[in-house]
Amino acid sequence: MATLPPIPRIPGGGETPSISSLPIEQIDFGWDRGFWKRWEPGEKGAWKRLNHFIAGPVSIYGTSRDFPALEDGVSHLSPHLHFGEISPRSILAMNPPEPFVRQLVWREFAFYLLYHFPQTTDEPLRNKFKSFPWVYNEKHLKAWQGGKTGYPIVDAGMRELWQTGWMHNRVRMIVGSFLVKDLMIHWLEGARWFWDTLVDADLPNNTFGWQWIAGCGADAAPYFRIFNPVLQSQKFDPEGTYIKRYCPELIHLSPSEIHQPRSPIVDHNEARDRALAAFEKTKEK
Ligand SMILES: Cc1cc2nc3c(=O)[nH]c(=O)nc-3n(C[C@H](O)[C@H](O)[C@H](O)COP(=O)(O)OP(=O)(O)OC[C@H]3O[C@@H](n4cnc5c(N)ncnc54)[C@H](O)[C@@H]3O)c2cc1C
Repeated sequence: MATLPPIPRIPGGGETPSISSLPIEQIDFGWDRGFWKRWEPGEKGAWKRLNHFIAGPVSIYGTSRDFPALEDGVSHLSPHLHFGEISPRSILAMNPPEPFVRQLVWREFAFYLLYHFPQTTDEPLRNKFKSFPWVYNEKHLKAWQGGKTGYPIVDAGMRELWQTGWMHNRVRMIVGSFLVKDLMIHWLEGARWFWDTLVDADLPNNTFGWQWIAGCGADAAPYFRIFNPVLQSQKFDPEGTYIKRYCPELIHLSPSEIHQPRSPIVDHNEARDRALAAFEKTKEK
């Protein structure tokens, strides 16, 4: 694939101007906690992360990218990209393998979509979803936000988000599907929570991600594709390593036990039938 070379850091050349401010290390963000351990804000940190990722982990990205327990399974470049600390062109210029380039292309697609359909931050791209009978249930929403749904993989993801400001992409899809399909809560509630809590919160990518998972966006997952949180967990976190990192109360459970729901707020099979019935009605309209 022919790629454009990166443009100079400052159009026309030159150095990044320095501004006088407190060095970032002196601001108490909680460096020893959460995402700050992974993310060193600034251009230098962005290049350090990219060089580390390109030097090794990227070679197995095609398979490693779906396993949230792997520390280097994905690049963790999202906050750097969001804040403009590194550009997609600079990343492409390092010739990463195709599966990784594909993700950067999704990012471009999300930006184009938002440019051409700016209303999609608040409205579904597909009109028929305007009449979808979303349910507002404060208790369920709070349980989801706080990682207390009773589904271990969903709870681990929501706690990773709260504790670190970041969540693995596979788990974003699982928790997103749980909110909009199992709980039938409007995708905008999810998008708003992510917006408030993600360190990489990004209007095009967040809008695109939520509309995709709700089935109401461009090239979206069809509404009837409903992630089963137990099967997803067994497939992508087989030993329960990721779950145990964020749900220490489950640390004593074996791989065969850990994926099962405990005091779940909804029954997945019943919830699935309810969501499908609501979708059928929307289709008829
Ligand atoms: C419901 C939902 C909400 C999301 N909200 C955001 C958000 O607010 N900000 C954000 O940057 N990403 C968002 N994503 C996309 C994706 O989850 C993150 O970009 C990714 O997890 C960031 O981690 P990474 O940098 O290690 O990704 P990698 O897998 O290493 O990918 C490299 C880069 O490619 C881009 N990318 C990867 N996957 C996607 C995707 N599905 N869509 C668009 N771009 C992608 C990102 O810029 C990412 O940094 C969301 C996904 C879902 C399902």
